[in-house]
Amino acid sequence: MSSPEPGQGHGRRVLLVEDEEAVRMTLRYNLAAQGYVVSEASSGTAGLALARSRSPDLVVLDLMLPELSGEEVCRAIRQESDVPILMLTARGAESDKVTGLGLGADDYMTKPFGVKEFMARVAALLRRSERPPQAPPQGQLIRVGNFTADADSRRVMVDRQEVKMSPKEFSLLFFLLTHHGRVHSRDSLLRAVWGADFHGDSKTVAVHIRWIREKFEAFPSLPFRVNTVFGVGYRVDLAPGETLQP
Ligand code: CA
Repeated sequence: MSSPEPGQGHGRRVLLVEDEEAVRMTLRYNLAAQGYVVSEASSGTAGLALARSRSPDLVVLDLMLPELSGEEVCRAIRQESDVPILMLTARGAESDKVTGLGLGADDYMTKPFGVKEFMARVAALLRRSERPPQAPPQGQLIRVGNFTADADSRRVMVDRQEVKMSPKEFSLLFFLLTHHGRVHSRDSLLRAVWGADFHGDSKTVAVHIRWIREKFEAFPSLPFRVNTVFGVGYRVDLAPGETLQP
């Protein structure tokens, strides 16, 4: 990497959403010193607005925020992008709760934490997200019954109606469809869709599966089902008589 900025940040944009000013100042200072470009918000509402308008490379998101909670902000961002999210939580019950929720954040840190550890996690998340996506292969179209998924345009259509999907939702669905009829564990889906060195929680997969199902609830004629194989993982089954069309 050749970049004029000093440090590891190389001008990459980090959005800090944290209402505790002391924490925010410390993180901002250290990020800026490493060459990151930092924008800040002290409420969930302002944070979500900046996530949309600035398209940051990474979001650091506190859980307990005024107006919109970190949980709600995380969910809203995940519906729109795969920007890495580092969630900050307080010690104890709150951190147990958030990791259990499987919000779709990529990493979690419990306060108080050391700045060195924080900077290392930020750098690791950015490294990971800069790898090209593992799936799906380019230039492929899946057609089955009234359903199409186009890997070039990343559009999903059912009954000629577009179903909006986030990039990760699309990749996960595309992978399951191209390997339909087989059971895939959460870990194998993590590796296939998120990449070999994604070390996040495999609950991430369950969360994305739930979102995918919710999006298709309005289409009872969908020619496949995303099934849970209890204790093992997930499998896409085509409706009887359906095949993937060339
Ligand atoms: Ca807070």
